[in-house]
Parts: sequence; C-alpha cells; structure tokens
Amino acid sequence: MKPLLKNKTLLIVGAPGTGKGSYSKLLSKRFGFPVYSTGDHLRSLIKEPAEVNNKRLIDEIESQFKIQNLPNHLDQILSKGGLIDKAIMDKLIQFTLSEIKKTESNSIMFDGYPRTIDQAKEFDNLFKRNIDLVLDICQDFDIIRKKLLGRRNCVSCTAGYNVADINEKGYVMPSIKPKVEGVCDICKSKLVERSDDTAEVINDRLNTYTQKSKDILEFYRAKGVLETIEMKRGYDDIGLLYDIVERRLISVKH
Ligand code: AMP
Repeated sequence: MKPLLKNKTLLIVGAPGTGKGSYSKLLSKRFGFPVYSTGDHLRSLIKEPAEVNNKRLIDEIESQFKIQNLPNHLDQILSKGGLIDKAIMDKLIQFTLSEIKKTESNSIMFDGYPRTIDQAKEFDNLFKRNIDLVLDICQDFDIIRKKLLGRRNCVSCTAGYNVADINEKGYVMPSIKPKVEGVCDICKSKLVERSDDTAEVINDRLNTYTQKSKDILEFYRAKGVLETIEMKRGYDDIGLLYDIVERRLISVKH
C-alpha cells in the first residue's frame, strides 16, 4: 500500500541543477501529493500565454502592474537567471492556491518557492499552513554545472534527459539519454536545452542561489524542519529522500 501523507506541506530546495524537479516528481508519485513548481508555472506563462488559466492570470497581472507584455517581461528575467519581483510572484502563488487546496491528501510540495528570505517569511501568511519538512538537496557546484549543460527536456511532455556522464569527486551519475538522439522516448517530440542553461547564465543562477539560500536554510534550520541530503548518485539516491519523508512525516502506515 502507498504510504499515507496527509495535511503536510513540504519544500524541496537546492541549487538549480541538483535534480529537484525530477526528485519531486518521484516523491509525488510515491506519496501521492502534487508538486507546484514556480519555474514550470513561469515557463508555461511564457510558452503558452493563450492557455485559458494562463491568459486569465496574465491579463490580471498586466492590468494591475501596468505591464505591457508579461510573457516577454518574464522571459527577459528568466533568460538572465534573475528573480521575478515579489509582487508578481505573490499574485502567481495566490492564483494557484485555490487549485492546491482541492487535492485529496491536502498535502503539497513546493519546488522553487520560497527563493528569498522575504518569500520564506511570508509563506505562512500566504498559505495559512506551516512547513512540515524542507528537503535541501546539496551537490558540488562543478558537478551541477556539467549536469545543467547536459540537460535536455521534451518540448511537449517536459520529460527530462541528461547527456552528461558524471563519474568524479565521489559522484556517479550516468547519462540518461533518449533512444534516438534529440527525440523524446515517451511522446517522440523534440528535446531542447533550456534557454537559461548556458555557461554564463548557469553561473549567475548559482551565484543568486548562494546569496539567497543562506538565510532561507538558516530560517528553516531554526524551525527544526530542515534536512540536508547530498545526492551523489542522482536518481539512485532517491531512497534517501523516501526514508526521510517516511521517518519525519508518516505516523500511520497502511
Ligand atoms: P527553476 O525552474 O526553479 O530553476 O526557476 C527558473 C527561473 O524562474 C528562476 O531562475 C527565476 O528566474 C524564476 N523563479 C522561479 N521561482 C521563483 C521565485 N520563487 N521567485 C522569483 N523568481 C523565481
């Protein structure tokens, strides 16, 4: 039977490229909670502005903040590895909130939010729920750079691959290549690199992460909810995360 996770709020944090997005999907499947990724949401607003919910949100933000072309505004910031202004992020989060509340387990994992100490401090106010567990994924920055440069995603179903084959500094992460180069195994669509996965932007994103994450991690450490995990074998270390979630959050097993 699936382990039961009820009324829990989890965060997954870590530098860009540590695999948060992939690990959160596996955790979601195992424990049955949805994952809300601010990065995915922002990219969807840029790529699919006509989608009905996206359009509603874009119209609202554009009129409230007097922005002419929100997708373009977001694209400019994302492609440089900067952070989206707090007011826009608040709006994005509030908009998503009602959807999150509808889930059966009433549990949720956030990926990419909070990303600043201000966002962390405001989290409880915005969501009216406390954080139960913060999974902090840490990895060596040289390894992260290589992995980010090797990352490929499907344009259609967003499935992730990685052409970098890592075996150094105690890290063993074999490449995850599609059967046919550049083509998604699942839906046969094209695989692409993310526009912010260039050497220069990667450095900017890692610097931004280092600056902003220190206070956030301290904030959650003081609350006693932080667990730092070094994932040296990538997916093969997923059991470390499963164990922590079960140990810290699951009181009744079925
Ligand atoms: P990610 O997919 O989490 O690496 O996010 C991609 C980009 O989206 C980041 O580099 C930021 O530009 C933006 N972003 C994501 N989450 C946030 C956030 N909580 N606050 C501000 N900007 C964000």
